[in-house]
Amino acid sequence: MGADCPMWIANEHVAAAGGDWIEVDDPATQEVIGRVAAGGAPDVDRAAAAAVGAADDWRYTAANDRAELLHEAVARSLAEFDQLVELLTREQGKPRPEQEEEVEWALTSLRYYAELGRNGLGRVIPSGEPRTQLNLVLKEPYGVVGAIVPWNYPLLLLSWKLAPALAAGNTVVIKPSELTSMVTLEWIKRCFDHFPPGVVNVVTGTGLDAGEALVRHPDVRVIALTGSVETGQRVASIAAPMMKHLHLELGGKDAFVVAPDADLPSAVEALAYSALINAGQVCTSSERVYVPAGVRDEVAEAIASKVSDLRLGHGLDAEVDVGPLIGERYRDKVARHVDDAVARGARVLVGGARPDRRGYFYEPTVLVDVDDDMTIMQEETFGPTIPIAAYDTIDEAIARVNAHPMGLGAVLRSDDPATIKHFYETVKVGTVWINDPLTDNYAGPFGGMKMTGGGRELGPEGLETFLDTKHVHWDFSQEAKEWWYPY
Ligand code: NAD
Repeated sequence: MGADCPMWIANEHVAAAGGDWIEVDDPATQEVIGRVAAGGAPDVDRAAAAAVGAADDWRYTAANDRAELLHEAVARSLAEFDQLVELLTREQGKPRPEQEEEVEWALTSLRYYAELGRNGLGRVIPSGEPRTQLNLVLKEPYGVVGAIVPWNYPLLLLSWKLAPALAAGNTVVIKPSELTSMVTLEWIKRCFDHFPPGVVNVVTGTGLDAGEALVRHPDVRVIALTGSVETGQRVASIAAPMMKHLHLELGGKDAFVVAPDADLPSAVEALAYSALINAGQVCTSSERVYVPAGVRDEVAEAIASKVSDLRLGHGLDAEVDVGPLIGERYRDKVARHVDDAVARGARVLVGGARPDRRGYFYEPTVLVDVDDDMTIMQEETFGPTIPIAAYDTIDEAIARVNAHPMGLGAVLRSDDPATIKHFYETVKVGTVWINDPLTDNYAGPFGGMKMTGGGRELGPEGLETFLDTKHVHWDFSQEAKEWWYPY
């Protein structure tokens, strides 16, 4: 049994009002490593009150000072880097190099928005009465932002909300996933306690208890959620009558398309990374693979060979390539998708089973003879599976990519400019990677189309999300205007 981790409200440790705790385990060993407070509505009330209390001073803190505080959080995080990476690995599971990248990327987000936040709060536009009037388009913080975060990249996806929300002058109540609350709490307690009390708060608990209470709270005017489509629909249905500003980053079912001209050996290398990083638990994992019919067998055999060399194990073991899934119910879903595909005629070339060891592991799995109507090609699997389908023409492949209701990202392997341009112009997704999958660039927006939710994080768009807009018409004189009554 590890440590008890209370919540963090107004820079103080706070146990849940109900006194309950949620156990957290290491997904690679299934051993309990700690407990987090099971918060609910009274705890959200307390955190929201702290955030409201801090909002006015924070709004009027100079942007330059806010930037310095964010840079200080980066410096503190670097001093805690190894401890954060280790806890992140124990709680979340993916291999240590991927966790190091996660923390580094999260810090890049803090640095980027620290600087972007200095740059402007709207614009002055030409007035209808240029001698006597000024028209100002102002960007101002909403007040309190609720940030609801999933477990697959708990610090990174938090940073994409926290950094721009703070840089924009909002205070924040964070609701991490109950599966990765320990590392979230540790990061915020160790690296953000130099912020004024109430500016950054963490309420832990389940989505149904703490999450919904945050969405329902009248003082929390923005809900920024990264999570599944189902959670997004539920949150939207609660928030809509309250006219809250919603920022939804939801699920994906990304396609990986090998064009007819593509170099196959390098496409196979890219596919293995794109489908299996974080054991496939990435919103932009390649979950559907489309290859030309004539090379389907060659690609499938090569990727099966590559995948069978990958080493499963604890993320802290330096020899490990692929970690566990986050929990039993997530592993069950992967098994259900594979079993359904096999029952409907798919063939497993490698994997397709739970290995005989502790931990929520599932063998990296390559399948062929899959149809687009199989569950594994329709629902988000969020696991280490590579289902490979064959196509006859690139237009057919694009149509099949677009037939899916989600639209987060897509990968194309090609060197043919005409194919590439046609692909990126016609696929209905928010991010297109040509040849090098799943790269991030903080200066550009990330998000999805269609059922993925349409929010955008990163880039200037990611700051804009946390700024409300106001148009001020300012006349410098008190004199009556000739166009007023009487006509
Ligand atoms: P999830 O939807 O189960 O949970 C996400 C967060 O929402 C958690 O903190 C959870 O406690 C909370 N939550 C759940 N129900 C809630 C409710 N009714 N009200 C308020 N909050 C609630 O998702 P998950 O399993 O943690 O993460 C995986 C999902 O996230 C996948 O669907 C994945 O595609 C998606 N995701 C999307 C992106 C993106 O950028 N689009 C990035 C990463 C993950």
